[in-house]
Amino acid sequence: MSNTFEKITSYGHEQVVYCNDNKTGLQAIIAIHNTVLGPSLGGCRMYPYQSESEALEDVLRLSRGMTYKASISNLNLGGGKAVIIGDPKKIKTKELLESFGRFVDTLNGRYITAEDVGMTVEDMEYIRSQTNHVTGITKSLGGSGDPSIFTALGVFIGMKAALKKKYQIESFKNLKVGIQGFGKVGYYLSKHLFEAGAQIYGFDVDQERLDLVSREFGVTSISNNDLMKLELDIFSPCALGGIINPQTLENLNCQIIAGAANNQLLNEKRESETINEKKILYVPDYVINAGGLMNVANELTGYDSKKATNQVEGIYETLLEIFDLSENQNLSTIDAANLLAEKRIQDSK
Ligand code: NAD
Repeated sequence: MSNTFEKITSYGHEQVVYCNDNKTGLQAIIAIHNTVLGPSLGGCRMYPYQSESEALEDVLRLSRGMTYKASISNLNLGGGKAVIIGDPKKIKTKELLESFGRFVDTLNGRYITAEDVGMTVEDMEYIRSQTNHVTGITKSLGGSGDPSIFTALGVFIGMKAALKKKYQIESFKNLKVGIQGFGKVGYYLSKHLFEAGAQIYGFDVDQERLDLVSREFGVTSISNNDLMKLELDIFSPCALGGIINPQTLENLNCQIIAGAANNQLLNEKRESETINEKKILYVPDYVINAGGLMNVANELTGYDSKKATNQVEGIYETLLEIFDLSENQNLSTIDAANLLAEKRIQDSK
């Protein structure tokens, strides 16, 4: 598909804004997918896209995902996202970020930006110097700090809901949990699991991260290949998207898939069918990993960590509702989540 309007129409976007600034070299696209529930919120990703159409595809896909994530999380927010084209290590300057901030400001709050791949909390402060429509700033500026802590808490709570559905238990004692990726989320998740008595296995391409979690939380290090074959109660992807695919599904030997990574299923329909055949309970990624979004969304009304924690705890009930709908209507869990997210938007029109 080459026509830009065709692409935008197929994803159902309201507005797509191209931002160009010859002086700073800024080339960015802001995509506002849906604002029925509220202003669109989503991170700004800076990445050396190979082509403009690759950047457009990414921002359209990601912003639509934010609409679903906000809706299922009961937030009064819509879905949006921005991409800045270019290598952050080479072209990211204070001036370029300020220029991006001015473009965000022209949208008068229809799009609220946040941190994503290739951006840092410090970068958000340059953007913030030009617009108030920014979240994910440091605690010292009244922000909410690191969202990964809340994302990890949400994943842990989501795992409890999955255990309840699958085993009618909520205790992690002696359960085997495999984690791929011990970055920001994987680290805090391991802490919760360790304290709850789980046996943790896992892999990270970064040896230092692996050593850290082995030392602090007794994680048994194992290669990615072996992790996929290991008999596990829960497999938790916390590194890469597309990790649930025909190759990995052939080997996966777990009862539950529940992790933080975005877009875990390489092909939603195809992988959901195999997951169903293997009788694995798949916890939809955008539901279980919404803790970080809930946390930054709180900045909009005056940050309150207690309120954010309560919202994250709500992931438990939301997932039980999704699991029940999936069972009662013979839907995949991801289709059940999509249905509930779409219904909330429809009902509020
Ligand atoms: P991160 O970059 O801090 O951590 C990712 C970790 O995965 C790194 O330690 C990296 O070395 C490791 N890794 C990379 N390739 C790997 C491989 N092939 N095998 C094993 N390990 C590998 O990222 P994060 O913030 O912890 O996020 C983890 C995932 O969760 C990402 O997919 C992210 O998009 C998603 N997510 C994060 C948040 C959040 O609040 N941070 C919110 C929602 C979703």
